[in-house]
Amino acid sequence: MNIKTLPHIVIVGAGFGGMEAARRLAKAPIQITLIDRHNYHLFQPLLYQVAIAGLVPSQVAYPLRTIFRKQRNLTFQMGEVISIDFDSRYVKMDGSVIAYDYLILAVGGQTNFFGMGSVEQNGFQLKNIESAIKTRNHLLKMFEQASREVDVEKRNALLTFVVVGGGPTGVESAGALAELITHVMVKDYPQMGMKDARVILLEASENLIAPYPDKLRKATCDLLQSKNVEILTNTKLADYNGQHVTLGDGRQIAAHTLIWTAGVKAAEMLDSLGIPQAGSGRVRVESTLQLPQRPEVFILGDAAYLENGGGQPLPMLSTVAIQQGKVAANNIRRIIEGRRPEPFHYKDPGLLATIGRNAAVARIWGISFSGFIAWVIWVFLHIYRLIGFRNRILVMVNWAWDYIFYENQVRLITRE
Ligand SMILES: Cc1cc2nc3c(=O)[nH]c(=O)nc-3n(C[C@H](O)[C@H](O)[C@H](O)COP(=O)(O)OP(=O)(O)OC[C@H]3O[C@@H](n4cnc5c(N)ncnc54)[C@H](O)[C@@H]3O)c2cc1C
Repeated sequence: MNIKTLPHIVIVGAGFGGMEAARRLAKAPIQITLIDRHNYHLFQPLLYQVAIAGLVPSQVAYPLRTIFRKQRNLTFQMGEVISIDFDSRYVKMDGSVIAYDYLILAVGGQTNFFGMGSVEQNGFQLKNIESAIKTRNHLLKMFEQASREVDVEKRNALLTFVVVGGGPTGVESAGALAELITHVMVKDYPQMGMKDARVILLEASENLIAPYPDKLRKATCDLLQSKNVEILTNTKLADYNGQHVTLGDGRQIAAHTLIWTAGVKAAEMLDSLGIPQAGSGRVRVESTLQLPQRPEVFILGDAAYLENGGGQPLPMLSTVAIQQGKVAANNIRRIIEGRRPEPFHYKDPGLLATIGRNAAVARIWGISFSGFIAWVIWVFLHIYRLIGFRNRILVMVNWAWDYIFYENQVRLITRE
């Protein structure tokens, strides 16, 4: 077939969903243009490890041109898509225009501060490499500043770390931060003594890790508390000025660090497309992942709003995005072959969150368990899911080193 007559698929976003769709279309008689504002795929579930000085960014990200080097029907373009003309079927990107026959929008999500400007301005977040490095630099600086602070109250505020959000990211970050203090910083700052350092986990609702069964929620609390994390449930954050956390009931906590993990919404660029959005700014799609009235446009992952059988929106998880990437790719092939697209059904692979060394909670194939076995599964699953053999080996060696020597190796404060 003449290359000019091949259908052109534009995929915007090379995260979990977009990358899966692109790979699934590798053997199809089509041309693909994959666009991302970054030149790498980021493994977001391990971003918190960058923030707590456990891994370097290059171990959780992988260059897209390397990933797709051998995929002959794909061209990668780095750039920011700023608008889409659905009638004329083209995307606009940093001055250039790219026409499509089919479009896959997999632009992911961003942190949702729910309009709390003070928290956005003064708090830290984990969403991309830049924010994780910024958090790491700040955390490490707090220990340096505390080491030369003679005023006890001021020193305690420097050593108080508040994590907001009792979902898996908040739980993982709080556990890892507590271990950074008790395993590593205690050795780096022998004169300081770390008994006054605090990690506080705030959660507005009654429970941590809400979607997990009761048994695992309890295990999570027990494991976090065994690592000296203070858990405040039913506690809302009202304000943060960079020095004091104000709680919903007016109480204040002096803290120079607040890490916000309590909200996600769909990527900002969707707001300007003039298409109906549902909860968290996600775009409502048909069960086939097509945009209503635009059968040539597919939206997936964090950007898409689709309900599960129980009327709840599908969670913003990599597993949903990957499975949707597969289905979107398959549906485009079906349409090209003159067949009907198929609906998406999410197959829940289970839940898994780590709380630190030897400690994780898991629900797999309907069985709940916690502790060492869950942690071993978490370690191997994350190593397996990382892109690139080199990264897998490096992360494995890094974690083994940290495990044996109680170290976090990436304790560099860099200029931003
Ligand atoms: C800290 C953290 C921890 C997480 N932990 C877990 C976990 O343990 N398990 C789990 O299943 N999920 C986890 N998630 C959620 C998971 O990462 C997301 O659900 C998943 O990444 C969504 O995939 P996606 O393909 O929709 O979007 P993403 O993977 O976010 O990819 C979107 C891509 O689009 C690109 N992009 C966005 N806008 C534009 C634009 N205008 N132009 C060009 N490119 C653009 C971005 O650069 C990005 O590469 C975590 C998320 C975070 C932030």
